[in-house]
Amino acid sequence: KPRLILVLGDQLTDTLAGLRAADPARDIIVMAEVMAESTAVPHHPQKIALVLTAMRKFARHLSQHGYTVAYSRLGDPETGPSLPAEILRRAADYGSDRLFVTTPGDWRLLQALEAIPLNVSMLPDDRFLCPPEAFTAWVAERKQLRMEWFYRDMRRRTGLLMEGDQPIGGQWNFDPENRKAAKPDLLRPKPLRFAPDAETEAVLGLVETHFSKHFGKLRPFHWPTDRDQALQALDHFITHSLPRFGDEQDAMLTDDPFLSHSLLSPCINLGLLSPLEVCKRAEAEYHAGRAPLNAVEGFIRQIIGWREYVRGIWALNGPDYPTWNALDHTAALPAVYWGGKTKMACVKAAVAQTRDLAYAHHIQRLMITGNFALLAGIDPAFVHEWYLAVYIDAFEWVEAPNTLGMSQFSCGGQLGSKPYVSSGAYIDRMSDYCGNCVYKVKDRTGPDACPFNLLYWQFLDRHRDRFAKNPRMAQMYRTWDKMAESHRDTVLREADQLLSALHSGAPI
Ligand code: FAD
Ligand code: SF4
Repeated sequence: KPRLILVLGDQLTDTLAGLRAADPARDIIVMAEVMAESTAVPHHPQKIALVLTAMRKFARHLSQHGYTVAYSRLGDPETGPSLPAEILRRAADYGSDRLFVTTPGDWRLLQALEAIPLNVSMLPDDRFLCPPEAFTAWVAERKQLRMEWFYRDMRRRTGLLMEGDQPIGGQWNFDPENRKAAKPDLLRPKPLRFAPDAETEAVLGLVETHFSKHFGKLRPFHWPTDRDQALQALDHFITHSLPRFGDEQDAMLTDDPFLSHSLLSPCINLGLLSPLEVCKRAEAEYHAGRAPLNAVEGFIRQIIGWREYVRGIWALNGPDYPTWNALDHTAALPAVYWGGKTKMACVKAAVAQTRDLAYAHHIQRLMITGNFALLAGIDPAFVHEWYLAVYIDAFEWVEAPNTLGMSQFSCGGQLGSKPYVSSGAYIDRMSDYCGNCVYKVKDRTGPDACPFNLLYWQFLDRHRDRFAKNPRMAQMYRTWDKMAESHRDTVLREADQLLSALHSGAPI
């Protein structure tokens, strides 16, 4: 009997465990575009277009390499509404009772696939460099989890930027050199963008028909959609932007959404590029003297450090993870996140860019939209849903730990020893947003006071019991306590008024 081999939309890799297990002469590769997966959250139209286009191209690639692919297209009358329904239809068509799945990075889907009434084999997704069991063992040996220690082990394990057992340059981490602001620069290299080919155009039409109500602009669409394009995007980044990556990593500019970031996360997450090949390319640039160590180390750390670390955390925490809420935040997500009006120039810029490009870089996600949601006491489940929906690279295994763990402190410190909150001063230092804002970043109270200033102190006051004893936050509490009582009262009153206005739908 033929066996069914499921290939999901973010499993587009020739060497995928499921494909290695397949016998092209008898097995059937099942790929399906189903409505349930495009609408589980209201995914950004560019993201749906990217995943469907990349799936179609990968299916063609597999067929050209001798596989039999049963491919279900969205909108075809016979396509079922959900993946389990589609798999059962294919099992009936081919008389098959065996299903091979490469473990998905989404607990909801994982559970749904395990429950399918066929003989299901769940294979490990070994495209990650650190298997979940190795991560769990690493966690078991430690009292406290810190990414930095994990990262050093990953450097040793991969040998990247190592001289024997020592880090090249005598230091593991060059982050202190990577916290600079940036200036507009017309000569800054732009990422490589791809004009849609006929296959992409067909999918763009389909997405226009079915998902025009989802938040986000579909066009212009310029993402790489197959391995060949992904390799071109990688080459371009490595040659043109990597040298400036470190210096500009944390900076934010209203008119330059990409700065020197790679935009490679969708390619890596879909499986079009492997994390190790990307890191090796960056490492080679350092050895060839074409990119400085702070840039190359910073870039590699994001991939073998943060990316692998959050995957481990996601697997460790299990299916209930998206409901964690250590700070008991319960407010609804304000309309500004879905494009509603706001006077805050920073939030406006980050959301507008997200709507137009399905992209914002790490610091915009963490210190603008994430910071504001945390200060405003938004229920992390809503924040999680938003991030999962709006970004081109968002898949639960990577989005949830970044949003819930790192950005919203929902895990109570598992992913960072203190919450990522800041007043307006940080945003002013790292961006050009404040110069164009209705609010005044230097005002701490009064009608023009920057909302981040008011909400920052209110957040610390609200969560005093939890954070005052945290050594990394004690100084902030001392500063707050030294302020005149009347000033503190004004801050708290104005912050309350601001939140009431926000939650009643007023554009703050
Ligand atoms: P670059 O800045 O060029 O970084 C290089 C690569 O490093 C990225 O392509 C990515 O593969 C990896 N990387 C960097 N930081 C992280 C990180 N924290 N976690 C995992 N990988 C990382 N990343 C996603 O891939 N999907 C998400 O859904 C996602 N959601 C996020 C939500 C929040 C609240 C925050 C704070 C971060 C999130 N990130 C997510 C991490 C990071 O913002 C993106 O990986 C990065 O912005 C992608 O753009 P880039 O390819 O230009 O990255
Ligand atoms: Fe954002 Fe405050 Fe600066 Fe305005 S003043 S851009 S709200 S940080």
